[in-house]
Amino acid sequence: MKKHRLLGTMIGMLFLVLITSLGHTRDFSKVQIKVVEVKPGIHMLMGEGGNICVSSGVDGVFMIDDQFAPLTEKIKTAIASFTSGSIRFVINTHWHFDHTGGNENVGDAGAVIIAHENVRKRLSTDQVLTAFNLTLPALSKEGLPVITFTRDVAFHLNGQRIDVFHIKRAHTDGDAAAYFTDANVIHTGDILFAGMYPFIDIEHGGSISGTIDATNRILGMIDDNTRIIPGHGMLTDKHGLIAYRDMLTKIRDRIQSQMNAGKTLEEIKLSQPTQAFDSEWGGGFIKPDVFVGIVYQSLIQEK
Ligand SMILES: [Zn+2]
Repeated sequence: MKKHRLLGTMIGMLFLVLITSLGHTRDFSKVQIKVVEVKPGIHMLMGEGGNICVSSGVDGVFMIDDQFAPLTEKIKTAIASFTSGSIRFVINTHWHFDHTGGNENVGDAGAVIIAHENVRKRLSTDQVLTAFNLTLPALSKEGLPVITFTRDVAFHLNGQRIDVFHIKRAHTDGDAAAYFTDANVIHTGDILFAGMYPFIDIEHGGSISGTIDATNRILGMIDDNTRIIPGHGMLTDKHGLIAYRDMLTKIRDRIQSQMNAGKTLEEIKLSQPTQAFDSEWGGGFIKPDVFVGIVYQSLIQEK
């Protein structure tokens, strides 16, 4: 009972903060797709929703995530500004609607969609995202991944090796990151919200400690020259990821120690455990109070 009440409180707060900020009430006609060259043949596309990565060259277009359906044409136009190839492969870093919204369009146009098997499971059936008070209907066949993996899969395209690997229970239970080992570029999916507190989808298998573990795993793979495309936020690097990891770890540990001392969520919020970090990380769509609620709920479930 208690768990449900706490979840209800958290959901209520998240709902208020987030419902206007995630796209469903947005006017997509005003969205512009910004193209950032990360390395020759590798671009980051920023519009609305999760950051897209595109590898292009003689073997065609390999794309990571596809934002929202109304943006597909704009995304294609942006890609056409630097390559003439068509979209051959699309990776979904996880099932969330701001990363997979273009799936039906790209799938219908002949792209092969690839994702962790839990992504296909979620996209195949209606999903409720309580935090946003949303029911996401199952995608049609065209929008579903046609190739799924459980652990990892490698691509060899455009002179690059691209290692796509699953990360357990971090942002969701179906996360994947993609590492361009030759170009030294990694797309983390929503493991990383650069410069802001992250949303963690506890309802679909995500956890704060899993997210921290994921940052440590990625830090073990990269070096000072790696360019990091986050799920949300600006292009960053190892130092950005370290700062994020340290912020998550300190906040998690502060909240855990107060929980160990028997404090309630309200008491923990009053103590402002994120205060030292709010000026740097609190300006995103997850506000400090909401983030404390997410961490608290995650730690209850991790017990
Ligand atoms: Zn997400």
